[in-house]
Amino acid sequence: MPHELFIYNTLTRKKEKFEPLVPGHVGLYVCGPTVYGDPHLGHARPGVVYDVFVRLMKDLGYKVRYVRNITDVGHLESDADDGEDKIAKKARLEELEPMEIVQHYTIRYHKAMEQLNTLPPSIEPRASGHITEQIAMVQQILDAGMAYEVNGSVYFDIEAYSKKHNYGVLSGRILEDLQVQTRDLEGGEDKRSPYDFALWKKAAPEHIMRWPSPWSDGFPGWHLECSVMSSKYLGQVFDIHGGGMDLLFPHHECELAQNTVTRGKDSIRYWMHNNLITINGQKMGKSLGNFITLEELFSGNHPLLSQPFSPMTIRFFILQAHYRGPLDFSDQALVAAQTGLRRLLRGETQLDKITTDPKATVSKEWQDIEARTYAALCDDLNTPVALAALFEMVTLIHTVAASNQPMAPQDKERAIGLYRRVVQGVLGLEEEQNRDRMPMIEGLVEMILEYRTQARSRKDWDTSDKIRDSLSGLGIHIKDAAEKTEWDIE
Ligand code: ZN
Repeated sequence: MPHELFIYNTLTRKKEKFEPLVPGHVGLYVCGPTVYGDPHLGHARPGVVYDVFVRLMKDLGYKVRYVRNITDVGHLESDADDGEDKIAKKARLEELEPMEIVQHYTIRYHKAMEQLNTLPPSIEPRASGHITEQIAMVQQILDAGMAYEVNGSVYFDIEAYSKKHNYGVLSGRILEDLQVQTRDLEGGEDKRSPYDFALWKKAAPEHIMRWPSPWSDGFPGWHLECSVMSSKYLGQVFDIHGGGMDLLFPHHECELAQNTVTRGKDSIRYWMHNNLITINGQKMGKSLGNFITLEELFSGNHPLLSQPFSPMTIRFFILQAHYRGPLDFSDQALVAAQTGLRRLLRGETQLDKITTDPKATVSKEWQDIEARTYAALCDDLNTPVALAALFEMVTLIHTVAASNQPMAPQDKERAIGLYRRVVQGVLGLEEEQNRDRMPMIEGLVEMILEYRTQARSRKDWDTSDKIRDSLSGLGIHIKDAAEKTEWDIE
């Protein structure tokens, strides 16, 4: 590996050099969506961030096993153990079978992720497909004396756990504070303490999603699925666990506690958390009227939007911020991202036109840009700094093109390599419209310009101007230079 990768580890609160358990291999688990609604802006950030992270690790030569789950059972309306199951509720409201809801929204999620040009994970397990393993893990935690059963439900015993381990080690919460903050138990709850969490819940008679278990007909707690599926597909100890900041507590804290009981101390070596998206400075929420689905973004069909924004613009917009930093969404910021992306991608078209000459002097600048781009990406996935270096490259391309001087072949190769390997390969940024048809469009424009040159040589200015105006009307702008007519698409 020519580049060393550094990751900020939420567990140790330090940036650490990444050292995989098995050299050359990476096991990554990322908490996926609970599929009960249309994919929205909040899904886009982790989708894109972990996609770029996986692409980077592959570029660095690692073989990556990327597991991202689908939550289709057990995620209740509140993070505490009450409220209706999110999927069961949607199914009740829509008069559908819960698995119809799951299927419908999983397909929509996949479609949105594909539009955002994210690669599918290596394995995408569903919680409902792992009930047997979840029951086995509940039993293991009971056997270890870290859980108790009440009326058919099983709860994790934080007090017993805290005698041996540190509950709160990941999120930085302190148990004593939690004890004070947590509301008193509501009537009818069986938990011994409000901060204990459910491993298994007995289903109420009207609850449709239920499975038999040694304790009751019921369903698993939400946090359990990730402990079960990560160990099943990545092993008892694995490299990296990722997810959104919103999952840090209680979801990941509970996951870590379950892992510690069943697998020993250090089950996960690096924890990564992406920050969330705000909208015009506010948290996104249905009640605030600023909830935006990805479909609305792509179509422009939302009161907060002045126009449609392409998936590639959204992708670029997300990468303009560091994944651990805040990202504030606004129509204006997306318009700026659209211009920035266009400028970055157009640099390649300009680069293609620059000629090479083996006698031309090799410039250190290209090498320097390449080194800084990789250094930024390997420094805890610092995409904004990497993009700044790439924009320096675009400026350099324009300077060289304007000078009409040829480039050294190795410099051009390096610049083309940065577009192929980093812009397209790692960042996943591609020209989306007519990408396949670009060679044909280029051929057509060149042909039309050829006729225009002929008209000009006959001093047929009418025809020449008409061609220029017609092309301009289509968004193709031409500039007459001494030797050749240059053109660019809007
Ligand atoms: Zn999870």
